[in-house]
Amino acid sequence: MNSRAIPDQPAAATAPLRADFANLIDGELVAGNEWFEVINPATGQAFARAPRVSRPELDRAVASARRAFNSWRATPLAERRAAIVRMAGILTDNTAALAQLLTQEQGKPLGQARDEISRAASQSVGMAQILISDELLEESAERRIELKYFPLGVVGVITPWNAPINLAAGPLVAALYTGNTVVLKPSPYTPLCTLKIAALLREVFPPGVLNVVAGPDELGEWMTAHPGIDKISFTGSVATGKQVMASCAGNLKRFTLELGGNDAAIVLDDVDPRAIAPKLFFSAFVNSGQVCMAIKRIYAHESIYEELCGALAEEATKARVGSGLDPDVQLGPIQNLEQYQKIIAILNDTTAQGARILAGGRVPAGPGYFFPPTIVADIDDRARLVQEEQFGPILPVLKYSDPEDALRRANDTRFGLSGSVWGTDVERATRLAARLEVGTAWVNQHRTTSATVPFGGAKESGMGRQYAQLGLKGYMEPRVISVLKS
Ligand code: NAD
Repeated sequence: MNSRAIPDQPAAATAPLRADFANLIDGELVAGNEWFEVINPATGQAFARAPRVSRPELDRAVASARRAFNSWRATPLAERRAAIVRMAGILTDNTAALAQLLTQEQGKPLGQARDEISRAASQSVGMAQILISDELLEESAERRIELKYFPLGVVGVITPWNAPINLAAGPLVAALYTGNTVVLKPSPYTPLCTLKIAALLREVFPPGVLNVVAGPDELGEWMTAHPGIDKISFTGSVATGKQVMASCAGNLKRFTLELGGNDAAIVLDDVDPRAIAPKLFFSAFVNSGQVCMAIKRIYAHESIYEELCGALAEEATKARVGSGLDPDVQLGPIQNLEQYQKIIAILNDTTAQGARILAGGRVPAGPGYFFPPTIVADIDDRARLVQEEQFGPILPVLKYSDPEDALRRANDTRFGLSGSVWGTDVERATRLAARLEVGTAWVNQHRTTSATVPFGGAKESGMGRQYAQLGLKGYMEPRVISVLKS
């Protein structure tokens, strides 16, 4: 097995960097005076540069969002819905060019990039059909009491690098549809597609309603501490989520936190391991495992353990790894060097512990941050690969004999995003799934979400929900109106 350090990466590129990107501030495209490089993870080389927003420019974006709030909140819901439907149409019409750019900056195969954009479009339309109705709490001779929901103001949206478009669209649409205005910051690893979309949306939203600003992590800190922002919708790691929450306390900003996961899949003894292996494999390895709700641990019953391990190893061996621009490729590179180094360190720890590597495990030399899909058997529950969120294409398969023990081990974590149980006896599987300490428990499936189903984490995997009425209400303040009639 490979246990060496990071493969060498080639020297910096000499090709000119693409530089046709700008921030969107108060309806204007602002290139600014500073910039940072964006790396293509399939080559390990910079291919573009993004504008780096300054502190005064952020202040200008927030001020314009505050100004735009008064008219946007008063815009009839039907018009706000129509704008979001137009936005979805623009995403759909530009899918080919956006997907190409997304693959270049993020690494995922083109087909998955197209899926991400079409999903962002369909989820946006889906969310803009949801109604938030007023509630009549009391109607008596004496009193009428109503509960109504109002927008909060300016929402700061902060997104990660694994699915930058879909994870921006969810909070963006929730905020705009409910009458808030937005300042959106993409990850510094993947800012380009978001900036291109911002430019395309200039014709859809009035100046100030949507601002998009790029910059390093520090920009996120400025936003969470900014007195002109009323709510932060943050998607990212648990560690950063805690910092965001602490910083929001400054002016008691509302927040929605969508954080990391360590999803367990419990496979019961009555399944056909060969039939479910491709589904489990896809749910663990799509986007090279860089998905918050990917399967990150499998607990398999001892009676089907070896067969399931073998079938997963076959899937891993078949899967084609390479540049996402190659149409035959199923797994692209790891998105960034830091994450790539983390996955290699976890592999090294796994092999040092004496676990069995059934497929993969050999990291190719560069260029690019490629890592083969790796299946690990016979690993200790306390190993890093089991305890941490690996967020990469390496999957532990753990053995159990008693389903109660599998459930206890699945729940023995501070993560609580989602999980699944797989079994032919659906009622038995459902009873077990309902006891997973998570935001979403699936049976015989994993990773299915929709605009009308709330999604979010239990425990340290988050706070609040996205999507559905429950999610939309997180972008609104409830207000009681109580009238004494006489
Ligand atoms: P990250 O926490 O490093 O960064 C996320 C965003 O926060 C980036 O835009 C970053 O610039 C910004 N940021 C960094 N430090 C900040 C600070 N102190 N204050 C404010 N903003 C700051 O996460 P990542 O590595 O980009 O993303 C991977 C993580 O995101 C994984 O843990 C994954 O599970 C999680 N994730 C969760 C969901 C979900 O819906 N629950 C979805 C996708 C990804």
